[in-house]
Amino acid sequence: MSEKTKFATLYYYKNKKKMSNATIHSNLNPLDSMMKRFDEAAKIIGLDESAYDTLKYPAKIVTVHLPVIMDNGKVKVFEGHRVQHSTTLGPSKGGIRYSMDVTLDEVKALAAWMTWKTAVVGIPYGGGKGGIKCDPKSMSKGELERLTRAYAASMSDVFGPDKDIPAPDMNTGQQEMAWIVDEYSKIKGQYTPAVITGKPISMGGSLGRVEATGRGVMVCTRSALAKMGLKPEECTCVVQGFGNVGSISAKLIEMLGVKIVGISDVTGGYYNPEGISVEEAMAYSKNNGNLGGYTGGKNISNAELLELECDILVPAAMEDQITDANAGNIKAKLIVEGANGPTSANADKILNDKGIIVVPDILANAGGVTVSYFEWVQNRMGYFWTEERVNRRADRVMKSAFDVVFDTGKKHVVSLRTAAYIVAIDKVATTQKFRGVF
Ligand code: GLU
Repeated sequence: MSEKTKFATLYYYKNKKKMSNATIHSNLNPLDSMMKRFDEAAKIIGLDESAYDTLKYPAKIVTVHLPVIMDNGKVKVFEGHRVQHSTTLGPSKGGIRYSMDVTLDEVKALAAWMTWKTAVVGIPYGGGKGGIKCDPKSMSKGELERLTRAYAASMSDVFGPDKDIPAPDMNTGQQEMAWIVDEYSKIKGQYTPAVITGKPISMGGSLGRVEATGRGVMVCTRSALAKMGLKPEECTCVVQGFGNVGSISAKLIEMLGVKIVGISDVTGGYYNPEGISVEEAMAYSKNNGNLGGYTGGKNISNAELLELECDILVPAAMEDQITDANAGNIKAKLIVEGANGPTSANADKILNDKGIIVVPDILANAGGVTVSYFEWVQNRMGYFWTEERVNRRADRVMKSAFDVVFDTGKKHVVSLRTAAYIVAIDKVATTQKFRGVF
């Protein structure tokens, strides 16, 4: 038995138990889902054991407890994490999310996904992620500012333009990034815009960053449709989630000529087979705070939305929306994952068997971190690009990453998801070999 086959067999047995458990539970946690895909790709490329063991664990985990004075005068303590999964290809990179669902396991999975994501698009970063367990919707602006500054201060030795570079994620945006740069710069005694991306333009943010993730989703959709021989103007699309990623993906996919027949947010799904005007829906959501009461489509549940008749489905809300419980009912021919981890690993086989093409998260939503990289580059040069230049370069990165993943899939006769993991793991493991370990 060759060394390669021996290790592949070893992985298989090491993970067999976990794999069969996965089919019993209808839901896997994001870390299990990430590991299941990692194991599968590692097995195919015969990843050597030392690289496997190194990449399985995050390089660094920092958990903090942040006392914050609330508006009522009482002190509340919040838990926050920052996980650096890998710094092999460069400083760790990845967003910070605010949500009551934040757990260390979730942040670990999201950090690893960032390692694979930056490797797939070939930008010189490792992967990291941060999260604070909080309910930002119930907090005042002042409370959010104090919490964000407390987090930035406690992570001031963790973050750094050449160490770990955060960015927005779920429920965070330009304002939070601005507070973090400000706090970090005060502590370091020098203005340091390159410590974080997704900043307001006036503070060194990049043109095109806000739209970047949705734009990458659109580029992947366009590339996948072309490979499938489908014409955009003859396709319909359903988008789950109407935040930054969902709404902009919907708008740009509509601009390809695709008819958007379903959208959704926390208030539920909205279905209109005649087509939804994304611009109108965006204006409605902006004026009302959400889509509640929107009359441009029939109100349905989020679960029904995913199972609608359509050609393209863009899950752009959160993890584990497509599981073995509903994958069998999905009618789309193409799924383009705007969110991180929207499909749990136990749904992969069902979707593959149905012949549904899935452009995986680590490729589909990599447009955001790609333009984050451009923002960091511009900060370090002190010279800013036009939006046209940002978009052109980001589109080129996304298109060529898609092509590499597609060709890898063909070569190994595997899904685009497994192919993306193969590309990423191979790149990180090869670099790790060059760098060496203790
Ligand atoms: N939070 C985004 C993601 O998951 C962006 C990360 C970044 O720009 O660093 O890809």
